[in-house]
Amino acid sequence: MAIDREKFYECEVKRRRVKATGGYEPFWKIKPIAVALEDNDTEFRCKDCGGPVKLYKRRTEDGAASHIEHKLKSDSEYCLAGMHFLKATDGRQSRMSQTPVR
Ligand SMILES: [Zn+2]
Repeated sequence: MAIDREKFYECEVKRRRVKATGGYEPFWKIKPIAVALEDNDTEFRCKDCGGPVKLYKRRTEDGAASHIEHKLKSDSEYCLAGMHFLKATDGRQSRMSQTPVR
């Protein structure tokens, strides 16, 4: 099956939680994109490599579902779920993003 575009329907979103010692600490939580949008999350990253992603919102009811794609081709080339990684035939190993979102 040919893969023309990346389309991920799950991502990690940055959330905050109360620390036991007081104050807040950020953490990343996996969510479907559609839910993240409903929850008004604003910070996203790839759940597999932690790299930056671009968000494509669904514009019409019958349009393509909201999804994300890697922003960087270099992430897509080595991310476990990356389109270019999956297409690669050189037996390369996947790795985390070189420029992870923190
Ligand atoms: Zn990735």
